[in-house]
Amino acid sequence: MEFATNAVHAGQSPDSESGAIITPIYQTSTYVQKSPGVHKGYEYGRTANPTRGALEKNIAALENGKFGFAYSSGMAAISAIMGLVKQGDHIIVTENVYGGTYRYFQKIMTNFGLSFNFVDTSSLANIENTVQPNTRLVFVETPTNPLLKISDLNKIANLCQHHNLLLAVDNTFLSPYFQRPLEFGADLVVHSSTKYLNGHSDVIGGIVIVNDEKLAEQLGFLQNSIGAIPGPFDCWLILRSTKTLHLRMKQQNSNAIEIANYLEKHSKVEQVIYPGLLTHPHYELAQEQQLDPQGQSGFGGMISFEMGSHECGKSLLESVNLFSLAESLGGVESLICHPASMTHASVPQTERERIGLSDGLVRISVGVEAVKDLIFDLEQALEKV
Ligand code: PLP
Repeated sequence: MEFATNAVHAGQSPDSESGAIITPIYQTSTYVQKSPGVHKGYEYGRTANPTRGALEKNIAALENGKFGFAYSSGMAAISAIMGLVKQGDHIIVTENVYGGTYRYFQKIMTNFGLSFNFVDTSSLANIENTVQPNTRLVFVETPTNPLLKISDLNKIANLCQHHNLLLAVDNTFLSPYFQRPLEFGADLVVHSSTKYLNGHSDVIGGIVIVNDEKLAEQLGFLQNSIGAIPGPFDCWLILRSTKTLHLRMKQQNSNAIEIANYLEKHSKVEQVIYPGLLTHPHYELAQEQQLDPQGQSGFGGMISFEMGSHECGKSLLESVNLFSLAESLGGVESLICHPASMTHASVPQTERERIGLSDGLVRISVGVEAVKDLIFDLEQALEKV
């Protein structure tokens, strides 16, 4: 099936009892058995739930994967991946990952005998030079949050295969509409489904998708054992949202391209970081790797730009009307934020400076509003800076 058809239908069929076209919210903790062990495939709500199962199948189909495992947040999904490694293992991570991922790895998982190297994975040599005999996993975020650096998934997957390493890719920023890492050879894809997959700023959720049966078995065991599962209503909300993922992503991408071009010409903006701009250092890679299901390049709805100082950035953030000053991203409404003090406050200042995440950097998540209104709002706010 084509992506748009899968978005609407995969994992779902009309309810056999009533004919309801929409998968019901199975708000139940347990299931009645006919005789001990004789049941309809469901025993207990932590282990399996039909609404959750429909969501897992739906997103797995969109990622061109076989198995999906849904979690109560993106961080819970990332922590499930950490259940695949053990004490003494070494993990290579994209240096400019989401701040919460950095905090979880650096401040919590290091207490459990795991070691991490945060490197710029947009250079393959940086990964190659960091591989140790005990390296087990490479965790890549592409594009990164918020500097939008792009890593070459095909090359990294080949390197991982050569060294017998697992490759996990955080695909939150593009969603499967614009990037399907399993097709490049990644072993695991992870999402904060809070973002584009849900897209309506009303759910916190996460998901991991894999193709390999052994990995699926391990993840199923971890999901049931740890229990960080989403409730049926949250699953239902995300399932409602993925039906329009392709429509939303198309609009957010086209709005973002117009806004990035507008910002690049503005005298008060020092630099615009958007992979769809010719000035982006990884423009060509983004064009080749980030493809919609029809093979057209897409660059997503996230733009970062440099205002030169914290004061200028703050003044802009306080002057916008239509953009809302808030953390998170990927919703239908446009958001604006200051990564250094908001999404990446958990990354120490020295580390932020090392990776080039300045205090003047502003990040926007472009929604599906009329682009003319969004540009008008930025124009009036930039005038006040
Ligand atoms: N990965 C990325 C790229 C994110 O931006 C976020 C949150 O912003 C997460 C993971 C964590 O997801 P959640 O907030 O759903 O736990």
